[in-house]
Amino acid sequence: MRINEVDRIPLVDLELLHAPLHAQLAAAAERVLRSGRYILGPEVSAFERELAEALGFAAAVGVSSGTDALLAALMVAGVGPGDEVVTTPYSFVATAEAIVRLGARPVFADVDPATTNMDPDAAIRRIGPRTRALLAVHLFGRAAPLDALRAACCQRGIALLEDAAQSIGVPGVGLGEAVTLSFFPSKNLGGMGDGGAVLTNDPQIADRIRSLRNHGVGADKLRHERLGGNFRLDELQAALLRVKLPALAGWTDARRAIARGYHQRLQHLPLGLPPPDDSAVWNQFVVRVPAERRDALRSDLARQGIDTAVYYPIPLHLQPVLADLDPAAAPGDFPYAERAARESLALPIFPGLSDAALDRIATALAALLA
Ligand SMILES: *Cc1c(COP(=O)(O)O)cnc(C)c1O
Repeated sequence: MRINEVDRIPLVDLELLHAPLHAQLAAAAERVLRSGRYILGPEVSAFERELAEALGFAAAVGVSSGTDALLAALMVAGVGPGDEVVTTPYSFVATAEAIVRLGARPVFADVDPATTNMDPDAAIRRIGPRTRALLAVHLFGRAAPLDALRAACCQRGIALLEDAAQSIGVPGVGLGEAVTLSFFPSKNLGGMGDGGAVLTNDPQIADRIRSLRNHGVGADKLRHERLGGNFRLDELQAALLRVKLPALAGWTDARRAIARGYHQRLQHLPLGLPPPDDSAVWNQFVVRVPAERRDALRSDLARQGIDTAVYYPIPLHLQPVLADLDPAAAPGDFPYAERAARESLALPIFPGLSDAALDRIATALAALLA
């Protein structure tokens, strides 16, 4: 059977999301085009104010991507050669990549098997004399528990940083010194290209990030006192993101309703559901299926026009580029992360995904898992 394009259920549908905003988005792009200001102008400043206000932070600093937000936040924490940064082995590669880019080593701690967020006790056990920072990840739109980590970091004078690329607007995010966001198009607030931000309640950290993103320039705009880079968010992305930001809260409600819809429809099926969480923002809805059946299930769903994805097929400690960096990083060392990598299956979730589509996905899964 061939699936018509109209019958396909994509993982995420950005055209659908943008359709009602099209005229506003086009006007914003036109405004920037005609302004002659393309870098660090009024759109970026306004977006930063509006973002900080919407998310309840003292400051937001726009940067070029979620990856560069991580890099800048780690730089502000003073992470450099010889340092260790404790983090999760179950995340997008950028989390660990940013650490390695600065000459430091990621030191991994296994995840909570239910949520696949980092297990605070495991993380605290990996803090050592070389630990410079702890980088928590709020995975799939769910806040990672930070209270114990914050206490441990405060006690030892270690920075607590948060990768919230998938978790914009989740209550409980922001106990650390800096929170990073990504505006990659498929994130809950996505641009029409790359972008990111660092959120902080510490004005000094905000100033430092503003300097780093612009080649480490000082407040006098003349002297370069520290090594930075070009991590700037551009005016066009900022203007487009300003159109989308007011819609974020409604989109988050829609994601929560879809997550509830999945829980209702899938609760009796032989698969593992992510624990319900009313405050999560559900960037992904990731179920667990028996490892030996997962790939066949994906193909069967694809044949019925239902797109799925695997986040993440290889845990970070087993990625070739990272594997040699943590001595405790052999296969089997982080069993919960490795098991999640074998069993995870991300189902479609996006504002506008209809009840009929949810019914179809649930019916297909029920038949295939019977
Ligand atoms: C998307 C993502 C990033 C990277 O963001 P980019 O904007 O693509 O650079 C980092 N960490 C996590 C957890 C992500 O999901």
